Amino acid sequence: MDNCLFCKIIAGEIPSTKVYEDDDVFAFRDINPQAPVHILVVPKQHICCARAVNAENSACVAKCFEAIAKIAKAEGLDNGYRVINNCGEDGGQTVMHLHFHLLGGLKLSEKMV
Ligand code: 5GP
Ligand code: ZN
Repeated sequence: MDNCLFCKIIAGEIPSTKVYEDDDVFAFRDINPQAPVHILVVPKQHICCARAVNAENSACVAKCFEAIAKIAKAEGLDNGYRVINNCGEDGGQTVMHLHFHLLGGLKLSEKMV
């Protein structure tokens, strides 16, 4: 997808600190970390947001969560972690390529749910 920041990061056109990659998933450290471990887990397929997940593309969401379990183990998040998806304007999404924030490395306090 032209002009998508995360597509450019996946393609290596914009540098990132990669922590994981497989055929379907790319993961890298957030540029503005909100916790000691803050990793963005992104499907390689361009899907704009959670609203656009459907029966044709939902396998990549499962792949993201498989990757999250592996990354969390590799990062030593044995005591738990949080996965967040922001969707659309009201959800606070700023980059319109579906992604999951993996946060951990401390006892997370702010909870909405
Ligand atoms: P959102 O607000 O869409 O849920 O999350 C977007 C995330 O992307 C933010 O946490 C932001 O810090 C991160 N981000 C934005 N631009 C870049 C970048 O160029 N590189 C990296 N590594 N993270 C970025
Ligand atoms: Zn994209």
